[in-house]
Amino acid sequence: MQILDGKTARDFYTEKLREKISRHGMPISLAIIQVGKNEESSAYIRQKKKFGLSLGIEVKHILLPDNISFVDLEKEISTLNSDKKVNGIIVQLPLPPHLEKLSVINLITPEKDVDGLTETSRKKMMHGDITGFVPATARGISSLLDFYHISVAGKKVAMLGRSMLVGEPTARLLKASGASVTVCHSETLHTRDITKASDIIIVAIGKPELIDDTYVGTNMPTVIDVGINTIAGEKLEEEIGGRKIVGDVAFEKVKDKVAAISPVPGGVGPMTVLCLFENVVEAAKRSTMKT
Ligand code: NAD
Repeated sequence: MQILDGKTARDFYTEKLREKISRHGMPISLAIIQVGKNEESSAYIRQKKKFGLSLGIEVKHILLPDNISFVDLEKEISTLNSDKKVNGIIVQLPLPPHLEKLSVINLITPEKDVDGLTETSRKKMMHGDITGFVPATARGISSLLDFYHISVAGKKVAMLGRSMLVGEPTARLLKASGASVTVCHSETLHTRDITKASDIIIVAIGKPELIDDTYVGTNMPTVIDVGINTIAGEKLEEEIGGRKIVGDVAFEKVKDKVAAISPVPGGVGPMTVLCLFENVVEAAKRSTMKT
């Protein structure tokens, strides 16, 4: 069984990204808007800041009060949209309940939408238009498979989860690479029949260790565990808010039935951060091509 180590793959692609950054030769900046002080969001932002800093990319963290009105948030985003020094803008999710996620995200100008979540980016992706941005986790999964020479073309892929952040864009990206993708969600019947017949099983459902060996066939598939679930326990190296992280897959139960599996932590997570910054660098490059 092969471990699909996201840190090794990230380090490899980081070197390539450094070369791109040095060719760009101009300062690059990402703005992260956080509304309210959600502990987990703060931990994710710290990770992004640390990685950005290691690349020489400025990461501006804009922390706004959790009772900010939509109108005031719109003003903040509008200022960043017109700031030529800012290349990418992301709104860290989740948002407080009074702010509707899509309405806020759609305030970001598509040229700076490095999370690829605005309606414009999603439509572009739907039409195979490469001038949009593909969400970082989807790119991260695809790059991780590439790094380990696991081709998706012609393969049966079960995508568990259909969120706009992970499941939906990952399914689209892999379909575009020639995979036959079946998307399963919380209401899908007979999910096990689908996963057992798949060559690659990708799990992004947000349910700690739900996917066990009963979902895995005898064909030794590849399993990609996207889940990041924090549970009370000892601190780990990649701690989120000081709690233990587990995936959506019960690693110990499935490990002897798979050809390859991505661990949690240390699998898709590091690749997601890398791919976010690949999008930021791409946004910076496109902005200079326009001027
Ligand atoms: P979400 O809650 O928005 O979506 C979950 C999806 O899973 C839904 O489509 C739901 O229908 C589906 N689902 C729920 N139970 C299911 C089941 N039993 N079988 C099949 N489908 C089921 O979550 P999300 O934002 O897509 O995130 C999913 C997980 O991935 C979370 O644990 C999240 O923390 C993690 N995540 C990790 C990264 C990373 O970089 N590794 C990035 C983003 C999200």
